[in-house]
Amino acid sequence: MYFSKAFIPTLKEAPSDMDNISAKLMVRSGMIRKLASGFFELLPTGLKTLENVITIIREEMDNIDGQEVRLPLLLPKDLWIETGRWNVYGKELFRLKDRKDAEFCLAPTHEEGITNVVRNDVSSYRQLPLMLYQFGMKFRDEIRPRFGVMRAREFMMKDAYSFHADEADLEKYYKRVYEAYENICKRCGFKYRVVEASSGAIGGNFSHEFMVLADTGEEEIAWCSCGYGANSEKAECIKYEKKENSEPMPEMEEVFTPNIGSVADVAKFLSSTERKFIKTMIYVADGAPVAVLVRGDHDVNESKLQSLLGCNELELASPEIIQEVTGAKVGFAGPVNLKKQVKILADYAVENIVNAVVGANKDDKHIKNVNINRDFKADITADIRTVVKGDLCPRCKKEKLQFSRGIEIGHVFKLGTKYSKSMKATYLDAQGKENFMIMGCYGIGVTRILAATIEQSYDENGIIWPVSLAPYKVSIVPVDFNNEAIKKTAEEIYKQLKKDKIEVLLDDRDERAGIKFKDADLMGIPFRITIGEKNLKDGNVEFKARKDDKTKAEIIKTDKIVEYIKSKIQESLKNG
Ligand code: ATP
Ligand code: MG
Repeated sequence: MYFSKAFIPTLKEAPSDMDNISAKLMVRSGMIRKLASGFFELLPTGLKTLENVITIIREEMDNIDGQEVRLPLLLPKDLWIETGRWNVYGKELFRLKDRKDAEFCLAPTHEEGITNVVRNDVSSYRQLPLMLYQFGMKFRDEIRPRFGVMRAREFMMKDAYSFHADEADLEKYYKRVYEAYENICKRCGFKYRVVEASSGAIGGNFSHEFMVLADTGEEEIAWCSCGYGANSEKAECIKYEKKENSEPMPEMEEVFTPNIGSVADVAKFLSSTERKFIKTMIYVADGAPVAVLVRGDHDVNESKLQSLLGCNELELASPEIIQEVTGAKVGFAGPVNLKKQVKILADYAVENIVNAVVGANKDDKHIKNVNINRDFKADITADIRTVVKGDLCPRCKKEKLQFSRGIEIGHVFKLGTKYSKSMKATYLDAQGKENFMIMGCYGIGVTRILAATIEQSYDENGIIWPVSLAPYKVSIVPVDFNNEAIKKTAEEIYKQLKKDKIEVLLDDRDERAGIKFKDADLMGIPFRITIGEKNLKDGNVEFKARKDDKTKAEIIKTDKIVEYIKSKIQESLKNG
């Protein structure tokens, strides 16, 4: 492509509503424009890059026997009623009506759609296993659309669904998908980690998230050099052995703590530490209040608590309910002498606190020297807190957990029979017996990959694309396109690269070389060939790789440059 003919509207400054580096650079380099909150237009270089991502994913899906399909984006309500998700999905689902008042939604995901396809045309074990996948836009009315295409309301997903005769077959296939996802991450040049994750609204019994490491990521992951990795919200806390206690354990003592309710403030007031505290939180689980105890410097993990209680709704109690349960205002709850008998759930770490400080269930009062099993009993002790720095890895129990930020670009789930049961997707086995199909589902945020790559790979001059994704692999910069010799050489190199199917941008614009360099750098084009009068007289051109910005350009013989570029591209694709 000649730059003068290309639609690449680059900008010096990003609009002020672009709220992270990748969004800024995607707009500035002319890849995308914002239409409305969470809706983006993909311009030519944006689409070219996206197509490169799609090609990689498609190859890897085909390699594991996936077959590509394309389902409608508008789905009838009936399908969603069958699985119960019409109601469960809530406000994230875009809903609309046709002229006859029939209701539809814009697909946020396609478990319903695909299960419908398979139940209609698959009926025998001979047709299994089967994996169908697609590339398509998804619609989710996110509460906080942000970071450009990273968290959009319309985005491209590669979604894949597999159908099996039994769990063992799903298990085997899941491993293949996992490997395919690792290949995709490598081919996109990612630094990444795979973590165990909770399965959220989609449901199922086990899932992994593929996280691209970036300081700007929305997720926090906890990991260990032994191989353990989990979303830090999901990471298990180990149960520490109780230490031998030599501290005397005097009687409980009530202390006056006027208007001091927060753990930090009471600790200061009593010259104690937060670790000596038992924080008591009153929650309401499906209508019933419960008291939840964690160490003062720990936080209650609501998703662990919710799965422990097996409740559908869990929320912090209102001040009125707190008053009713404890007999005191907010900030003075404790496990000793609760006014109302409620279930007491304690985190494992609470068992190891000797002579704890707790709220007294009286306004402005705390109690010192409280010991579990002597002064109060918990109905259940379990892991109900979120991991913190300093916690040991729950798998090897030797190393401390490390924490990094990440961007979730892919998610694989074992769904089991969640959808096949509700939608009656069955098959007949060899004995003629009817069984529910066992399912897996596997998503990748294709548009999010563009943003995630940039978050990992940019500098002050712009994007640094890995060769595999770059919209153009090579930029040819003739210093003066009006100079006949320069123009001729530029066009010759251009033609040869095109012949070899290498995407190349020839900057034929009547601009200073500095401006051309700036645009090529902003767009993140991996290799640049500069053709100037002086070098050309000696039969040379200049070569520079975008990622070695600090190093000087290399001088290469004009008739060797195409081969040289080809070898550089091969090398980069091999090394990811
Ligand atoms: P998140 O926790 O980021 O909201 P999710 O768990 O809702 O993600 P899935 O339903 O598993 O996401 O969707 C599969 C993939 O689609 C995700 O791994 C992510 O890469 C991508 N994705 C999800 N929501 C968005 C969005 N709003 N914008 C862009 N990509 C998204
Ligand atoms: Mg989500």
